[in-house]
Formats: sequence, C-alpha cells, structure tokens
Amino acid sequence: MSVFASDWLDALFAKFSVPKKDSAEFLEVRQAYGGLPLAAIACHGLSDLDRTVESADNAQGRWSSLTAAERCQVLHDWATLVLQQQETLARLIALEQGKILAEARAEVQSTVRYINWFAEEAKRPKGEVVPPKRLNQHLMTIRRPIGVVGAITPWNFPLQLLARKVAPALAAGCAVVSKPAPETPLSALALQDLAFQAGLDRRLWAVLLGDARRLGKALCQHAAVRMLSFTGSSRVGKELLGLCAPTVKKTVMELGGNAPFVACEDADLDKVAEQLVASRFRNSGQTCVATNRALVQRAVLPELIKRLKPLIAALRCGDPLDPAVDQGPLIHAGALARVEGLISRAVMDGAEVLQGGAVDPVHFNVYQPTLLCLPDHGDVTRREIFQEEIFGPVLTLTAFGNDDEAIHLANATRQGLAAYVFSRDTSRLLRIMEGLEFGMVGLNNAVLSSEAVPFGGMKESGLGREGGHEGLESYCEIQYVNLSYA
Ligand code: NAP
Repeated sequence: MSVFASDWLDALFAKFSVPKKDSAEFLEVRQAYGGLPLAAIACHGLSDLDRTVESADNAQGRWSSLTAAERCQVLHDWATLVLQQQETLARLIALEQGKILAEARAEVQSTVRYINWFAEEAKRPKGEVVPPKRLNQHLMTIRRPIGVVGAITPWNFPLQLLARKVAPALAAGCAVVSKPAPETPLSALALQDLAFQAGLDRRLWAVLLGDARRLGKALCQHAAVRMLSFTGSSRVGKELLGLCAPTVKKTVMELGGNAPFVACEDADLDKVAEQLVASRFRNSGQTCVATNRALVQRAVLPELIKRLKPLIAALRCGDPLDPAVDQGPLIHAGALARVEGLISRAVMDGAEVLQGGAVDPVHFNVYQPTLLCLPDHGDVTRREIFQEEIFGPVLTLTAFGNDDEAIHLANATRQGLAAYVFSRDTSRLLRIMEGLEFGMVGLNNAVLSSEAVPFGGMKESGLGREGGHEGLESYCEIQYVNLSYA
C-alpha cells in the first residue's frame, strides 16, 4: 500500500496522471514534510478550460431546475461520504499541506459541517413581496442562481476553503469551475470524487490544474463565467478584481489578514496566553485569522511574557503525521525563507527575540515557534513586521497605554479580517469593538470560525462573506418582478 494508505486514493490519483489533450505538463505534488514525491498530476490547458466552462454552462440549467430538496440530498450524501473518509482525508491533508493530524481531522469535520449547512440553506433563498404604489400590481423579488462560478483557492485549508465555495454554489443551483493551489491539488481531487460518488453530475464541478496566471486570467475573462469566488492574498485578489471588470463579474474575495489581539490589563492573563498560542501557532501560523500582532497593555506585558514563554517552548515540532507533534513545517522552502527574512529584518529594526527566532536545525522546513517583542518607542505602525501578514509561527508583542491607542494600533493596517479583544470588563470590550474596522471580532475568544456565521473581511481583506445565510446569497442574483393584472 502507498503512502496514502488508501486503495481509493491510489486508484484516483493514478487516473489523473494521464496527460491532458492540450497540455503535456505535469504537476509534481510533494509531501510538505520531507519533500518526497506524492503524485504527478496532469495539467490542463486553455482549451480544457473552455470545454469545461461550456459543459458546466450546459449542465447548470437542469441542476438549477431540480427542487431545492433534491439538491439538498446530493449535498448531504456528499457530506456523509466525506465524514466516512475522515481518516484518509486527514492523512492526505497532513501529507500534502503539513498540518498536524489533529488539525487535519478538525478540517475534515469543519468541511462536513459546511456542506451540511449549505445543503439545508439550499431551501432558504427567499424572495420578498413588496407593497406596490398602484392597485392591481404585485412587486416581487426572487433569487436565482448566478450561473457558472469560477473558484480559486489557496493551500492552507485545502478541503474546507474549497467546500466553502463549492457547497453554497451547488446549493444555489450553480456549476463550479475551480482551480486549487498547486501545493494541494490532491485534497481537491479527493473532495470532488466524493461529490461524484454522491451522485453529482460530473459536468457541474471541474477541478482544473495548471498555470495559475493563464487559467486564472481565462476564467476571469470568460463571458460564461458569471462570478469569481477567490480566497488568497490581497495582492492576487486585487489583480483578479481588475481581470473581472471587463465582464462585470460578481466577486467574492476572501483575502489576507493582519489580526490584532488586544490584551487589556484586566484580562484573564492565563486565558490570554492560552488563546494567543492557539490562535498564532495553529497550522504553523498559516491561517488568515491568526493573531499577527498581540497588542498588550504595558502594565501586564512582563507578566504575559512569563506565561507565554513556557507555552511556546512546550510546542513540539516535527512530522505532522506523528501524534506527539504540535507544529509541522511551513508549506515550502520559499515560505520558510520569507519568514526567516521578515524576522531577521525585524531584529535588525530593534525587535527583541524572547523565544525561538531561527529556522529549526533538525526538522524539515520548520521555523521555531517564536516570540518577538517590538521596540516600545517610535512609530511601531511603520515597521514591516507590524504591517506584513507573517504567515508563520511568530508571535509579536507591542505595548499600548490606553484603549484609544489600542484601537489606533489595531486599525493601523490596510487589512480588516479578524480582531480579538480580551478584558473582564464587558463595557470596555464593547467600546473597543465599536472602534475596530474588522469583519470579525472575537471578544474573550480567539476561535471564530463556524459554518453558521458570515466569514469575511473589511478594507483590503475582501468583499462578500462565506458561511451563514450570506454564504449562499453570494451565489444568487436578485430578480425583481413587476406583475400588473386586470
Ligand atoms: P495566493 O498567492 O494569493 O494564491 C491563492 C491562489 O491563487 C492559488 O491557487 C494560486 O495559485 C492562485 N493565484 C496566484 N496568482 C494568480 C493569478 N495571477 N491568477 C489566478 N490565480 C492566481 O495566496 P496563498 O499564498 O496561496 O495563500 C495565503 C493567503 O491567502 C494569505 O494572504 C491568507 O491570509 C489568505 N487567505 C485568506 C482567507 C480568507 O478567508 N480571508 C483564507 C485562507 C487564506 P498558484 O500558487 O499556482 O499561483
């Protein structure tokens, strides 16, 4: 048996290793930890994309004309199959993405919850009846599926982020042409195969692999693709927004974060330390809602450092498949070099390393869990480490004096995805929350994500929301109908 420990996956990936008609290229997929080859998957070319969009467009009309209950059933059956394959999928995620098994299992479970949530939401895109100005008139709105959706996703949650787009799109009656990240195509192919096993028409969901720029551009420019749902960096999101403009595509943009975590002096410091570590070091720091900047009231900074250091020192690094390990590798050598560069420039700029601060000398592509204290003088908001999304296991501490300063520091970024505030004083929590320009705010809680709520950001962190009822509405158009009768 292969490294996947699954006959199903062995057979599936063998099927995708046959070259495509108009592309002789292959994507070499490697283990995040150790770098050994996992599979070579055939890439798609532009004519594959055209064919795929055309066939999705043809199939979408029939799919959207099914009853909501019929679409709902296919999605529930899909979720059941995903849950049945939990262990196999968790192992696959740990292999190609590098998150530890416990987190990979949590990702599979959250994927199942998203699919089941949107299965039920399929029944709820409601319209309105609006009071008319004249007699003998009915004014109504109805929600209609937008059509073929392009979906581009990153590698950090290869299963869940894709399900968060495909499930609501299918529930609304749309078809999807998706392009997953080249680091984690296998999770996408496995998820898609389970949807097909659940009875989904194969034309309704395509997974395309290959040159992101060429395929992404073609997807954005294709007139039959009516919407682009993108998760990734703000830089690429802005580029894709420009490409979508000529065809006036609707977009959902789930982009980068730079989350502040405001720890007030009256907060429960044990809880602050525990939540900071959970929020920052999960998935080796590679999550969009991870705490990027801990803003700590000056009076309790030394006390908090005392609590943080042993927690961070206790994190065991290594092979994500080893159940004793807490932190795996970064996604690739480029990510490791990027974090290394950021930290060494921060240190040259006056930051003090309190823990870690180097590449792990033993484990493959691992950066040591690191605690950095930024200098308590000058304008900290101008520092690169304060403005950049670190996307690695590095927690930075910045001191603040009063609540106004905390709000100013928290908002001093072009991102606006998630923010956290900890205090025992509820009035203070609410006052600070009202000053924050972030799409999601955790008060005494740094674990935000749920399929039942709208996930998304303000400012350059994005447009639109995923999850909640908003997550399905994104894939609908509103049609207003004016009926006059005799
Ligand atoms: P990225 O570089 O923007 O890539 C994301 C996806 O876009 C990948 O599939 C990538 O494929 C593709 N892509 C890149 N350039 C493209 C182009 N010009 N045209 C079309 N597609 C293109 O982001 P990443 O480094 O993979 O992911 C990390 C970022 O995602 C972070 O900023 C993180 O905060 C953000 N994120 C946001 C959320 C959220 O919900 N807000 C969730 C997770 C992650 P290639 O790799 O082949 O270029």
